[in-house]
Amino acid sequence: MTVTIVSTGGTIASTENTGGDASPELSSSDLVAAVPTLEDIADIETSDFSNVPSAQFTVEQMGALVDHLHNLDSDPSVDGIVVTQGTDILEESSYFVDLCYDGATPVVFTGAMRNPSLPSPDGPANLLASVRATQAPQATGSVLVAFNDRIHAAREVTKTNSMNVDTFRSPEFGPLAVIEEDRVVWRRTPTGVDPSVVVNYEDLTSNIHAVTVTADMPPAQIEAAQESNGLCLAATGAGHIPPRIIPALEDIVEAGVPIVATTRCPEGRLARNSYEFEGSETTLQDLGCYYSDLNLQKTRIRTIVAIGADRFEALFERPTQSD
Ligand code: ASP
Repeated sequence: MTVTIVSTGGTIASTENTGGDASPELSSSDLVAAVPTLEDIADIETSDFSNVPSAQFTVEQMGALVDHLHNLDSDPSVDGIVVTQGTDILEESSYFVDLCYDGATPVVFTGAMRNPSLPSPDGPANLLASVRATQAPQATGSVLVAFNDRIHAAREVTKTNSMNVDTFRSPEFGPLAVIEEDRVVWRRTPTGVDPSVVVNYEDLTSNIHAVTVTADMPPAQIEAAQESNGLCLAATGAGHIPPRIIPALEDIVEAGVPIVATTRCPEGRLARNSYEFEGSETTLQDLGCYYSDLNLQKTRIRTIVAIGADRFEALFERPTQSD
């Protein structure tokens, strides 16, 4: 079995020279060389895609990464793919790939919170776990995230801790599987998997605003989205907003900018028919908001992909009170 390690940068590929200046410098073959036991479980190939902190990874690069993964998928000698990346935006890039990649070869994203110059770096164990994850039959055709011996669906996972190695979680429903010793123990298969969409990479835009609603927030935060291609809004609770931002949202609708709403709560979804006060989910529906059941950053990725694929209506529902 051959697994290709595609390296994009991040802490897993970083070295710290004099303290406090960790930056991505290691190649994919350096990462593999640090885990000699990898060769015992698979034939390893390497591919250097980029070497950047993930906060510098662009939407354009996400599109190019999907192309790269499709090329690897079409090579019959490749049985699994592991993408190493910085953890900061990994939940966004892995979800972008999840939406756009339609290969059968499993793709597993991973990274590290502790760079290789620190005591107990977590990159080597994460790399080993990711290669094992590609070998699970349940992984076929999936885009997964393996971290700290847990395997998550790319659609569900989020980074929950800024510094701790136990950072990736799938709120509400939990991981799909765990790694115990050399075994992948699978407990859950996601339902309602997203369809793969074909994106015209020239039509990708990052001009999508993402705003978290806060108590008594200034309407200027909404007005800033007037010139955007879409506004993603994480409303409070079950879909509630301060009335003072409603006129600004009406202007956004008037300007033809789609609004995609989600909840700012880490768990749960927007209500459809529970409240009718001014600024409730009824207001969102009257405004014609689309609904998302993802967190705000993943909602933005889905919006970018929906626009790039010209599949907005297919990728988002737009409930009304009668639904
Ligand atoms: N702290 C980040 C990481 O875990 C840096 C990055 O996302 O590139 O890799």
